[in-house]
Amino acid sequence: MDLEIERKKLLIEFDILDTKTEEMFDNITEIASKICETPIAMITLIDDKKQFFKSKIGINTYRTSIEHSFCKVAIEKSDKIFIVEDATIDERFKKNPMVVGSPNIVSYYGVPLVSKSGIAYGTLCVFDNQINTLSENQIEILIRLAKTVENLINLRSKSKFLDAYQLKIERYSKNMEDFTYMAVHDLKAPLRGIDSFVKMLEKKHKEIWDEKDEKYISFILQSTTKMFNLIQDLLEYSKRTTDKSNFEEFDLKALIDDIFDNTTFEIKHKNPILTCQEMPILFSSKIAFTVIFNNLINNGLKYQPDNQIPKIDIKSIKDEMNWIFTISDNGIGIESDYFDEIFKPLTRLHGNSKYEGTGLGLAICKKIIEDLNGHITVDSVLGEGTTFTLKIPKN
Ligand code: ADP
Repeated sequence: MDLEIERKKLLIEFDILDTKTEEMFDNITEIASKICETPIAMITLIDDKKQFFKSKIGINTYRTSIEHSFCKVAIEKSDKIFIVEDATIDERFKKNPMVVGSPNIVSYYGVPLVSKSGIAYGTLCVFDNQINTLSENQIEILIRLAKTVENLINLRSKSKFLDAYQLKIERYSKNMEDFTYMAVHDLKAPLRGIDSFVKMLEKKHKEIWDEKDEKYISFILQSTTKMFNLIQDLLEYSKRTTDKSNFEEFDLKALIDDIFDNTTFEIKHKNPILTCQEMPILFSSKIAFTVIFNNLINNGLKYQPDNQIPKIDIKSIKDEMNWIFTISDNGIGIESDYFDEIFKPLTRLHGNSKYEGTGLGLAICKKIIEDLNGHITVDSVLGEGTTFTLKIPKN
């Protein structure tokens, strides 16, 4: 492919032509002009027709045609640096309008900017309107600065690519969330149908059924309830509860008291005890905190040995940047081998016959807490109890 076309293609890929000035590049031109003691310093980018100044000092235009460009000559040579010490006596440039007229160039030093694939696409250059002979040191620094410009241009292009990629992933993930929500939601209706038709059958034919028939019907109804709970939890899992637009002020203590009252309604005979210190007033997603504390309190009350008074202790610890909450219970505990496992969706350490559940509660908590940029950990002693610790940034 023609070198000029390749160069143009490269600059389009960099997405840098005709873009605004950027501080990181301006800093380099300023250093170059100071080090070389020249009134003019520039970062130029050259396509097939124009040269564009990404950064410039001592010159007003930001784009010129390549016809009279010193930098175009510089990138066509494969030297480390292109030097014209006195353009007024150099055959190639002495009639150049930039030499005979403004900005009256006399000395020129241009270091080509080269892509990883070896294509020179611009320069870091300095001009003077009197003879200026740079020392070896000055030239060395100018070459190093040009290397930095090349690196910055590569990084800038990578970071643009990553931004675009992240946007794509976010869009995809939102579509997936919406799709899952719809799909799971739509499963509810046929399940309700099965449940109510089986109940109608049960009502109509109960007298003629034997013991086995009744057992089968009871299994069907238990399965539909289990599936209903699973769908409910999957819906919770696929919902986004942490959008900033949902944030509101709420009293965490009141929220915890409410959850505890509702959760213990059916196990009042076990005399469950809640100890809860003073809790902060939060500005966050109330739905998210409801789901998290509901799951953790529920588990603490559920995973208990028989004939024990269930105890839940909730604390809030202060930290400069984060809210730290601990939710402890005096239940059956968890073996340390499973500390990571239990947060994975559908992981259960117990059968449904002893403790009912879907295995999604902790996965939901983890997902919501991570959406809030926090994290959740567990600590437990088998037979003594379990503590979940949540660390959630204040802002
Ligand atoms: P579920 O309670 O619906 O099974 P979870 O995701 O909430 O689902 O919990 C996953 C598993 O972790 C549970 O099945 C249980 O074995 C264990 N677990 C969770 N919380 C506790 C707890 N407080 N004490 C003991 N085991 C627990």
